[in-house]
Amino acid sequence: MENYNLVVGCGFSGAVLANLLAEKLNEKVLVIDKKNHIAGNSYDYRDENGIMIHKYGSHIFHTNSEKVWNYLKQFTDFNTYMHRVVAIIDGIETFIPFNFNTIYDVFPATLAKRLEEKLLKNFEYNKKVPILEFQKQNDEDLKFLANYVYEKVFLHYTTKQWGNTPEEVDGAVTARVPVYLSKDTRYFQDKYQGIPCEGYSKVVEKMLDHPNIEVRLNTDYKDIKNDFKRVFYTGSIDEFFDYKYGKLPYRSVNFKMETYNREFYQVNSVVNYPCNYDFTRIHEYKYYLDDKSEKTVIAKEYSENFELGKNERYYPIPKPENFELYDKYAQEAKALKNVYFLGRLGDYKYYDMDKAILRAIELFETLMQN
Ligand code: UDP
Repeated sequence: MENYNLVVGCGFSGAVLANLLAEKLNEKVLVIDKKNHIAGNSYDYRDENGIMIHKYGSHIFHTNSEKVWNYLKQFTDFNTYMHRVVAIIDGIETFIPFNFNTIYDVFPATLAKRLEEKLLKNFEYNKKVPILEFQKQNDEDLKFLANYVYEKVFLHYTTKQWGNTPEEVDGAVTARVPVYLSKDTRYFQDKYQGIPCEGYSKVVEKMLDHPNIEVRLNTDYKDIKNDFKRVFYTGSIDEFFDYKYGKLPYRSVNFKMETYNREFYQVNSVVNYPCNYDFTRIHEYKYYLDDKSEKTVIAKEYSENFELGKNERYYPIPKPENFELYDKYAQEAKALKNVYFLGRLGDYKYYDMDKAILRAIELFETLMQN
């Protein structure tokens, strides 16, 4: 198959690349995946109750990139869903990121007012402040607030999610959910947000639906013996090199699904439990596409370490020693001709969907220039 491209992995990164090679360059592409379905961890399906289930946890699309948005719009319409996350703090349902509304939800009104005034005096309105920075305060009231948010929102959740404290993982992780000096209760502020109207699997299916593309599921890269024009590898880069420098650590997630004979289980699509229980959050899937059913399906999310053969890779663990190990593999990768690595696992980067898609588009554009 010397005139074929091989794309390893059928998630967004692989599917975008396959689609562009087939469509724009009119080249042949073989796409393989170890799993028995397309779309990688964004895979979704309608269950017997008519509810669209996100098999690997909630996926909410959001982007500021016109390029990514316009590219995806070729394959799907999006609803106008704007994600909000409810968190249970001191038994109170409130929205996070922690914002001016949260202050009034969790504190007595007089204290909330004092904190609000101090925040407005000390910070620019609408500013997003990562918790690890927010802790660097001199004012006693703001110190109290920072310690409260650190303890109630971040410390226990991050320890459950990563097996590490907020200080032990890269600051960019907790900075994803900043203290937000705003009345905006949304989780994302991106210009474009939404859920694909027919689900994520359908989007990937449409990307791959091209006469130049062949898809083989249940297929391991190690079992493919042919030569290819180029190889695009979206699996874990350490696996490609037979773990010669050691295994790159990942966090995995175990979703315990439950079905209830009632219309709704909780008030929102996602409810976080930073301080209670062993799970981090509960997803209730019918909210995303407003699915009508007398039943509802939820998933409790338990984080655990990734172990080969036991569970799936979900999150690269952003720590200096892991980046160092990744760099060794990246150096090896550079020396290879016509082999490219991309995606969360190929780049060992905590990409959101839009960033993974942009990376694939940009890699394709670089190839076209050469
Ligand atoms: N986080 C937290 N408490 C929360 C929500 C998030 O401590 O209630 C921290 C935690 O470290 C988490 C990170 O912020 O891993 C990023 O959260 P996000 O919701 O973006 O994670 P994802 O949806 O990608 O799992």
